Amino acid sequence: APSAPPAAVPIPARPPAKPAVFIPVNRSPEVQEERLKLPILSEEQVIMEAVSENPIVIVCGETGSGKTTQVPQFLYEAGYSSDNSIIGVTEPRRVAAVAMSQRVAKEMNMSQRVVSYQIRYEGNVTEQTRIKFMTDGVLLKEIQKDFLLLKYKVVIIDEAHERSVYTDILIGLLSRIVSLRAKRLLPLKLIIMSATLRVEDFTQNQRLFTQPPPVVKVESRQFPVTVHFNKRTPLEDYSGECFRKVCKIHRMLPAGGILVFLTGQAEVHALCRRLRRAFPHARARPPEEEDQKDSVEETRKFKKSRARARKAQAAILPHISLDNYSVLPAGEGDEDREAEMDDEEAALGSDLDLDLGDDGADGGEQPDASLPMHVLPLYSLLAPEKQAKVFQPPPEGARLCVVATNVAETSLTIPGIKYVVDCGKVKKRHYDRVTGVSSFRVTWVSQASADQRAGRAGRTEPGHCYRLYSSAVFSDFDQFPPPEITRRPVEDLILQMKALNIEKVINFPFPTPPSVEALIAAEELLISLGALQAPQKAERMKQLQKSRLSCPITALGKTMATFPVAPRYAKMLALSRQHGCLPYAITIVAAMTVRELFVELDRPASSDEELATLKGRRARVAQMKRTWAGRGASLKLGDLMVLLGAVGACEYAGCSPQFCEANGLRYKAMVEIRRLRGQLTTAVNSVCPEAGLFVDPKMQPPSESQVTYLRQIVTAGLGDHLARRVQSEDLLDDKWRNAYKTPLLDDPVFIHPSSVLFKELPDFVVYQEIVETTKMYMKGVSTVEVQWIPVLLPSYCQFDKPLEEPPPAYCPEKGRVLCHRASTFYRVGWPLPAVLV
Ligand code: ADP
Ligand code: MG
Repeated sequence: APSAPPAAVPIPARPPAKPAVFIPVNRSPEVQEERLKLPILSEEQVIMEAVSENPIVIVCGETGSGKTTQVPQFLYEAGYSSDNSIIGVTEPRRVAAVAMSQRVAKEMNMSQRVVSYQIRYEGNVTEQTRIKFMTDGVLLKEIQKDFLLLKYKVVIIDEAHERSVYTDILIGLLSRIVSLRAKRLLPLKLIIMSATLRVEDFTQNQRLFTQPPPVVKVESRQFPVTVHFNKRTPLEDYSGECFRKVCKIHRMLPAGGILVFLTGQAEVHALCRRLRRAFPHARARPPEEEDQKDSVEETRKFKKSRARARKAQAAILPHISLDNYSVLPAGEGDEDREAEMDDEEAALGSDLDLDLGDDGADGGEQPDASLPMHVLPLYSLLAPEKQAKVFQPPPEGARLCVVATNVAETSLTIPGIKYVVDCGKVKKRHYDRVTGVSSFRVTWVSQASADQRAGRAGRTEPGHCYRLYSSAVFSDFDQFPPPEITRRPVEDLILQMKALNIEKVINFPFPTPPSVEALIAAEELLISLGALQAPQKAERMKQLQKSRLSCPITALGKTMATFPVAPRYAKMLALSRQHGCLPYAITIVAAMTVRELFVELDRPASSDEELATLKGRRARVAQMKRTWAGRGASLKLGDLMVLLGAVGACEYAGCSPQFCEANGLRYKAMVEIRRLRGQLTTAVNSVCPEAGLFVDPKMQPPSESQVTYLRQIVTAGLGDHLARRVQSEDLLDDKWRNAYKTPLLDDPVFIHPSSVLFKELPDFVVYQEIVETTKMYMKGVSTVEVQWIPVLLPSYCQFDKPLEEPPPAYCPEKGRVLCHRASTFYRVGWPLPAVLV
């Protein structure tokens, strides 16, 4: 067995302590019968005793053993929600928070006013709420408002094995909060629950817990699962292989649900379509008419009103003020940062609302009318009502087949699964720790994940797991997936922690600490954004040498921490209460945060027909992008103007799925942008009530001068993402043609072909992110005027001695610019590598 089960710390046997309180729950007989089958029920006494005698308890048990649904009920019955306090349960995924609150409410025969959920955009928490499911990000935000979490008597951190960044941070924080609460004689119980857990990261971590907490292991009644490996070497086309395997199982093996693991939304939908086509019960999606006429009309309206606004507000104004933050004491704001994984899902999801026709060769599989199949997709961003379908029994006589991403690995248990088909892959965003360059990589899962996936087949009876890779490949897998915190930049976390007055981040009891480089990079970025106080140079050198990072947060940083977006974007928001830019900045930030607004059309096509469709769509999207970008000033805002224009035009069209479909926009992303705009508006209003903003989805387009200010705001936020075009005289060899140079990367970077600035090639640009595919590509590009750099980004410039003679204004020299600051002239260099200067 690849993953050794964690050793259970024995709990001393003693007569069961009578619970002080017992709150009766009125469950229906059917529910009660179902519950009694769950392995965790026989452990209730052990768990509750461990909880009553220890401040921190770890509960470890197979997925499906009943941890998430039952432990909150045990606690409720034992009175842990008396005196108006709340039992809090955190989940790393929104899907689980919503589904589990519904399930527990139903089991307890209570309304969702009592058993409620809270996720980033929505929730149903009331005064009466006693059990609250939430994403881990929501609880982290609550800690900012009430460090001791006095509302709660128990906090359950669920799915700790996922090792999501927020889960890790919460465990670290809660280890401290528990002891602070004990000192105040208001004890807080912490329960950490997990499936296959590397418990040593928690129990053997002296900094985290001075005394290792007891581990209660729930023995699950897992039926044997026969694992079948592929003999052949792993295939590139694992989706096709999945299809063939499902067909075979369906035709040849006895009744029982099938669960397929794939890597992303697009794949999930493609396989669902293919299966529905091959077997009856296919509920074919009616092809949506491309209502081009309408969308062109709406765009025309948007353009017309833009012209009107331009006329009304034509004015030439020099600069935004860098000191004009709407900094006020941080107010209320009940937002959270959603766990990264949902963003990943969003980024991966692409053609999900499109029916792009053929999926390629079906391997000669003939439709088979005799065996109905009930095919359902499952992934994080799927609408909750659609997700809930997997819990319902399939129609009489049909076989359930769920095609899922990683969410089905541990977060949700689907009843009736007997066969698992595992492609063995997982799609993850990969970040370069130093440069922040990200790429999506499909990699092999870990052995622990593969076993977890296999286990899904043995819940109700013996099952089978078909692994589409060989046993030799399996033995090369990592034992466990690496914790997320070691895989991504941490500036957002550091800002949140500093806002909690944790200054010496390096001393924080992380279950697995991020690398020192990642911590330094995060602090440096936050210092240059003005969110942390910059230490004197000498002092900083000392700090860096001893890895003692301890910059305190600034007032600006506190404001930034209340916005539920990444620090660079938060800076933009903090700056944009000037010249009426706020609504536009909010929209741009929302659109950048939601990611992948446009449907991915660059995929390879599997047939000529599909290629033609794709080409047509690409051309149309490119044309729409040009329209939205406009000309002159607005084109200089580049891809961010496209975002603004797309959101504007879409809102004018009533944000309809048809409009999105016709213009290559992801409808779900649009809906999410709208929500996030609302949420950001609330956040801004709470920090700065006199801004008095309200969300007007159909806002007027910005004037020309406002566009210029927006470009400056964007420049100020994305300062570390500045790139300079390599001049022709700098060309060392051909690989630098049309290339850009950034301070951090040695390699050339290029404007992504999907950018509206691809052919414009401005001298200076800022970019949202660099993605590495065949080359390093900048996405989300916007033009910067060279003379803005020293004014807007002084911390990135080296200022020489003041000049005595005022030079002609703003004359760019090679790699250098002159600037006029506080009525003194300086010679300034933007840090470029020697070869270019
Ligand atoms: P764990 O947290 O240990 O993985 P859960 O408490 O999530 O286990 O699930 C326990 C049982 O409840 C599982 O057998 C699962 O099938 C069932 N269950 C959970 N949610 C639902 C639901 N929405 N509908 C039907 N059954 C459910
Ligand atoms: Mg669970």
